[in-house]
Amino acid sequence: AKTSGRNNAQFFTPELSIQASERLSIENELRHAIEREELCLYYQPRIATRSQKLVGIEALVRWQHPEKGLLSPIRFIPVAEESGLIIPLGNWILREACRQHIEWRGRGIGSIPVSVNLSALQLRDPGLLAMIDSTLRDTGMEASMLELELTESLLMEDVSKTIELLAAIRERGLKLSIDDFGTGYSSLNYLRRFPIDALKIDQSFIRGMLDDAQHLAITKAIIGIGQTLGLRVVAEGVEQDEELRVLTAAGCDEIQGYYFSRPLPAAEMAAWIANYGT
Ligand code: C2E
Ligand code: CA
Ligand code: CA
Ligand code: CA
Repeated sequence: AKTSGRNNAQFFTPELSIQASERLSIENELRHAIEREELCLYYQPRIATRSQKLVGIEALVRWQHPEKGLLSPIRFIPVAEESGLIIPLGNWILREACRQHIEWRGRGIGSIPVSVNLSALQLRDPGLLAMIDSTLRDTGMEASMLELELTESLLMEDVSKTIELLAAIRERGLKLSIDDFGTGYSSLNYLRRFPIDALKIDQSFIRGMLDDAQHLAITKAIIGIGQTLGLRVVAEGVEQDEELRVLTAAGCDEIQGYYFSRPLPAAEMAAWIANYGT
């Protein structure tokens, strides 16, 4: 017990206190990042395997920090979730994605369905439906052009309440997909009951697929589950020709990944779309 007491003291290393203070400073700065217009959305295309057509784009948030440079969402989304800032941040993200869709449509770039990631906390926010409604109304976004990506973990918490909420979102005409599928704890029996449109296979399975028979088997099993339940299946993190070939042969519906494009700022995405065609 004595030695463990000494070991505990090692937790208070300067390194860890720097991490804690960095976290706090990120939280404080994040409060102002929206009003200072430091946040922006990058976009990544999703392509149908059979037709090779552009079928959608996913909005991925970035923070152009004045000193730290371009920050990945992995650096600040967890902080936003813990502090509750994800609610105003998530509102801004949804609104900006809709605004961008309308702008592109107006400029004749095309009417491209856009996907937005929703954090667990947003799904539990009693104001979510009202927020979606006012965003659609204010931006003039068509509900059917908007897809929300949810992770498995949060869906299993209060299943009947979740089903009700998802049904209300879908009644409005939005699409729903389960992100990072295969990494959480979805019960296949519940999955059947969820009113959703698509499954996105987590990229960790795609990454290992060519060298690891188990990853390939899981990928194929998810495609099979999707087909059985009548859901679109999307593979994420596709980088190589061979991965695309294997996924196409396995019947995967849609592909997202560096193979087609990295996530790009809006202007570069518009140029990419113009060049690729819709
Ligand atoms: P995600 O929703 O699973 O997004 C896919 C991530 O994989 C993105 O990372 C994307 O840049 C990356 N990616 C796409 N294709 C490839 C590929 O071929 N190879 C590799 N190695 N990576 C690829 P990103 O943009 O850093 O986002 C990380 C995570 O942060 C997202 O994972 C999502 O969970 C979260 N996130 C991003 N934007 C938002 C947002 O607006 N709201 C919320 N709540 N979370 C977000
Ligand atoms: Ca996603
Ligand atoms: Ca994902
Ligand atoms: Ca993820």
